[in-house]
Amino acid sequence: MFPQEEFLTRYLALQSVSLHADNQIQETAEFLRQHFEQIGAQNVQILTTKVTNPAVYAEIPAQVPSTVTVLFYNHYDVQPAEPLDLWESDPFTLTQKDGVLYGRGINDDKGELAARLAAIQDLRDAGQLPVNVKFLIEGAEEQGSPNLPVLLDQYRDLLAADFCIWESGGKDESGKMKVSLGVKGGVAFQLDVRNADHDLHSSLAAITVNPAWRLVQALATLKDANDEITIPGFLEEITPLTATQKQIVADSEFDYDAYAQNVGLTHAATVADPAAALVAKPSLTINGLSSGYEGPGTGKMVLPHAASAKLDLRIVPGQTVAHTVALVRAALDANGYQDIVLSKVLGEPPFRSDPDHPLVQTALATAKQAYPEGVAVALNSAGSGPMPYFYAINHAPIISVGVANANSAAHGPNENVVLADYMQFITYLKLLLPALAAK
Ligand SMILES: [Zn+2]
Repeated sequence: MFPQEEFLTRYLALQSVSLHADNQIQETAEFLRQHFEQIGAQNVQILTTKVTNPAVYAEIPAQVPSTVTVLFYNHYDVQPAEPLDLWESDPFTLTQKDGVLYGRGINDDKGELAARLAAIQDLRDAGQLPVNVKFLIEGAEEQGSPNLPVLLDQYRDLLAADFCIWESGGKDESGKMKVSLGVKGGVAFQLDVRNADHDLHSSLAAITVNPAWRLVQALATLKDANDEITIPGFLEEITPLTATQKQIVADSEFDYDAYAQNVGLTHAATVADPAAALVAKPSLTINGLSSGYEGPGTGKMVLPHAASAKLDLRIVPGQTVAHTVALVRAALDANGYQDIVLSKVLGEPPFRSDPDHPLVQTALATAKQAYPEGVAVALNSAGSGPMPYFYAINHAPIISVGVANANSAAHGPNENVVLADYMQFITYLKLLLPALAAK
């Protein structure tokens, strides 16, 4: 038996697939509530909002006098297990084979919670839990956490903390432990061009506007052939990096060639320093383009009546969702594309914990002790997430650390965690919590 195996077996068996209508979301929230009650947690609550799935909240008080409170963020919902035929074991049965644990959620994010509970339990068994612990375990992360801003606003007093340990993270390709201090922001939107009520005979292209051409020409004004964003004012808003941040970026590594090999990239990197660009360079991506005839074959000679593109921008501190969208609008207008409709804006702000904050320094120093293989610090992950909403309510620095390995296949078939990594993560937390308490 490994630590928390029994808990994890039952937790993994619950099909808390938030994207499926027929799921066990309510049962899973109730299971966690009962579990926290059983282990003697305090103030255990199921937090509900009108928006989506309930979250579970629990407190475990320090066993020695402590003024430090650590908030753990996790989520109990998981991605769908489909396609099932690609799994080598039942996704909802915890399976152990050759030192590796398999199952949907074993990495993202049920195994991570189990490892956290294991570390806390060990400290409690020794009568030495050195910090006050709070858990917030939400149930709609895999849907993009639509409930979280509402939930945080509604329960902000409950979530006061000095330090926050986020979900996700683990070892990279070289076996180093990744510690991420933030997230890039993400802004998604749609552009639409129209010209007629329905598609026309393409002979009319001789005399009128083709929305597909107009859209791609407008898009081409937002980025140049060197892949640089050309939206006026966009790059000027970026907050310059501090000396410590510059050093972290300089120390970061990313093996583009290995990655290219892995996923079959046929083009060279668009930047000289991919490791730096992943954390510090904003990006503008066309996610999808659609217009006119998109069926098989050629010869359907239509003039499309409409064209649309879905795009996203990844942004960094200094840039905001609302102002970024305003700059895109202004760039289109300035280039004569006032007719293009910009709509369906979604956005999450960027966030970075201060790497010079004493508790962040403690977390990094402790990680170096627990992971002699090496620690890879990232100013922020290349992706986005709801971290900034947490910071907004309690101003506690946030780090992402976890149990993943480079082939954990989160969201994919045969999701897995190496048992030795799971154990090493428990060891890390058992060093980290006392070190945080000492600050
Ligand atoms: Zn997750």
